Amino acid sequence: MEKNNLTGICGKCGSDDEVTEVFIDDESQGEACIKCCEEEGYCFGCGQYSGGFDEYEFSDIGPYCEQCQEQIKDAFGDEED
Ligand SMILES: [Zn+2]
Ligand SMILES: [Zn+2]
Repeated sequence: MEKNNLTGICGKCGSDDEVTEVFIDDESQGEACIKCCEEEGYCFGCGQYSGGFDEYEFSDIGPYCEQCQEQIKDAFGDEED
């Protein structure tokens, strides 16, 4: 998850922001900011295309796949109780 914290230029909208490298079938599609990940269906955690999965579409913590959501909830879960 360390590539989560990259700062750079989004390859899609051009904004200077936190970006992550995104993939479709393990093929790199360049770097995208969280907004573009959300719009195009990529997980902002691992970068894998996750659009269409219920866990992704109905995420309450942002554009993350099921796996990354679990990791994030594990990391922050204690505070919610
Ligand atoms: Zn963008
Ligand atoms: Zn993910």
